[in-house]
Amino acid sequence: MHELAVAQALVEQVEAVIAQHGATQACLIRVRIGPLAGVVSELLASAFPLAAAGSRAEHATLDLVAAPIMVHCQTCGAETEAAMNRLLCGACGDWHTRIMSGDELLLESVELETVPT
Ligand SMILES: [Zn+2]
Repeated sequence: MHELAVAQALVEQVEAVIAQHGATQACLIRVRIGPLAGVVSELLASAFPLAAAGSRAEHATLDLVAAPIMVHCQTCGAETEAAMNRLLCGACGDWHTRIMSGDELLLESVELETVPT
């Protein structure tokens, strides 16, 4: 399962952020996923608890934010949002477009909790 590997990588990143800030645990993890990232949000959401089990991200809420596909038009130069199966320029309708973003899978933010010991 590909999403499990992605979830494990996210948990590792979160653990690094926790360590960096001397926090106790993460309470909210926000991840930005583009439609071209090749990751199914639902599968990632269900793989996350498995990957996070026993880690300091275990009790965190996973917030998956859907990022749009942005294309740059080579005809008119506009940067517009496009649909996954229809990468057309939103301004002039030309199909000579280049994908600017939409394939990202980013750890956008982590909310940490520090419990004094
Ligand atoms: Zn255009």
